[in-house]
Amino acid sequence: MIRLLLTLALLLPAWLLRAQNITLSQAGSSQYAIVIPKLATDLERKAAKELQVYFAKVTDVTLPVTSESKGKEEIHIGNTDLAKGIRGKIALKDDGYAIVSSGKAIFIKGNGKGTLYGVYSFLDKYLDVQMLAPGCWNIVKKKSITIPAGINLVENPAFILRDVFNSIAYDPVYTDWQKLTHAVGDQGMWGMFYHTFFKLVPPDSYLKSHPEYFSLIGKQRLPQQLCLSNKEVQAKVIDALRQNIKAGKGQKYWFVGQEDMGGFCECPSCNALYQQYGGLSGALVFFINKIASAFPDKIIGTYAYHGTLAPPQNIRPSQNVLICYAPIEAYREKAYVDQEDRTFVNYLKQWSQLCKHLMVWDYPENYTNYVEPYPTFSTFKSNISFFKKNGVQYVYEESVIKNGINLNELKTYLLSKLLWNPDLDQDQLIRDFCNKYYGEAGTFVLKFCTALDQNRKRENDKLRFWGGTKAYLNPSYLEQYDNILAEAADKVKRNPVLTARVNQLRFSVDYCLLNAAKSNGSSRAAKGSAATGSRLEQRRARFRETAQKEHIVDFNSNGSWIPVETFLKTIP
Ligand SMILES: [Zn+2]
Repeated sequence: MIRLLLTLALLLPAWLLRAQNITLSQAGSSQYAIVIPKLATDLERKAAKELQVYFAKVTDVTLPVTSESKGKEEIHIGNTDLAKGIRGKIALKDDGYAIVSSGKAIFIKGNGKGTLYGVYSFLDKYLDVQMLAPGCWNIVKKKSITIPAGINLVENPAFILRDVFNSIAYDPVYTDWQKLTHAVGDQGMWGMFYHTFFKLVPPDSYLKSHPEYFSLIGKQRLPQQLCLSNKEVQAKVIDALRQNIKAGKGQKYWFVGQEDMGGFCECPSCNALYQQYGGLSGALVFFINKIASAFPDKIIGTYAYHGTLAPPQNIRPSQNVLICYAPIEAYREKAYVDQEDRTFVNYLKQWSQLCKHLMVWDYPENYTNYVEPYPTFSTFKSNISFFKKNGVQYVYEESVIKNGINLNELKTYLLSKLLWNPDLDQDQLIRDFCNKYYGEAGTFVLKFCTALDQNRKRENDKLRFWGGTKAYLNPSYLEQYDNILAEAADKVKRNPVLTARVNQLRFSVDYCLLNAAKSNGSSRAAKGSAATGSRLEQRRARFRETAQKEHIVDFNSNGSWIPVETFLKTIP
């Protein structure tokens, strides 16, 4: 940065260099203009427009956007003539950005999407504007904005892939505001993703004519996985992948991933590979290295997942192979580094030593019951920091798919922020989000989060992607949550927007109490006031209303999908 400032000092006129506070807006007027390059890119134009729009929302002042620098108070977006002096002088990675001031001039520029990200960070840091959820911004009106001079902020992302897989995070506007990148979808980085063995060699096309392409299980060839030692299979995968790449959009990343089941081949040749390379993952790495050698300018991904989770011996992934470490069995009640069982920590560390490109497929949610409160948020920072420290460059957070349930907005916000910068203060992020998103109910939502976390710890519950234990959802605790959220609702009862947000949280607790009423006649909840009589009717009505409002037609309950109305019919 010293080099950068020296460069600026050489290039900028003397009047710009005097250190002082910077007054962006005073008493509803501003001297500032937004300057873009004469040949601005679409991204630079968008970044300037976003700054103009949100600056106006806060101050009621619309700054002019111009490509003519007049040497006055200006915010330079992207690679303007005056900003060219900082080109190449800052260590910016893809999507990184710099926000630098010199005197009254401010420069925001970056690599990749960095210029746009820099504008969003500028709005966050200096105008207190944040996007909290799709369609929801924190905007506080201010007539005057003065910020300290001498801004010198350079930020680079912690990870290349910063993906939270749910409908909130895949909102395109939210994607940019939270600086997310996605594996799939309109902005997806990957040409093929997920379980692709059978997309590349479909059993429908080959099982009859070439059963030997598929797993030998006992005495039968079954369409469970590919036979990894079969040279013709390797050739077929290479051919099919080449066709897919040809039809693609020039993506660098292509997944050759095992099917989502066990059933690896037991033929003598595959068994020999397992012996030679220390198990299933060794045979998979042997196979994937063969595929990757045909595509030296691409990165070919594959899973360390279930049977292939443990790292191999006597072999390592090639330079253009990416290993996606997906410990679906891992513990979620504690952060990885705090777990007594070191299996999942040690496997990740070992893979990290073996491969150049490492992804973690993380599982922050419970897939047996989408709707039940699942308090994993206190582990996010520790886990994401652990990934970063161990050389992980890509993170995919498999989150719930539906809006409106299970603190999804808070969790998605937290994950997004921490995937950009795991050093952020997690507790501060949670407090900040709750107070801004839930307004006067925020204190009670925080209380709800704390109660979930504390009760989970008190009961020593195990949180798992499938199953786990849930004494923290016992009837007495549910009553506690219900009471806290009833207070939250009372605080915002005159505000329909905030009421709807609180009702999204109540949806989860209502679900549990409705279930308690139906499933256990002797439980306290069924006997007590929370789930019987008129309160049961209120709960049922609120559950239905929230489902309609949030477009939730069905959800995963005890491991299977159930329509909302079918569920409600089971309640006495
Ligand atoms: Zn085989």
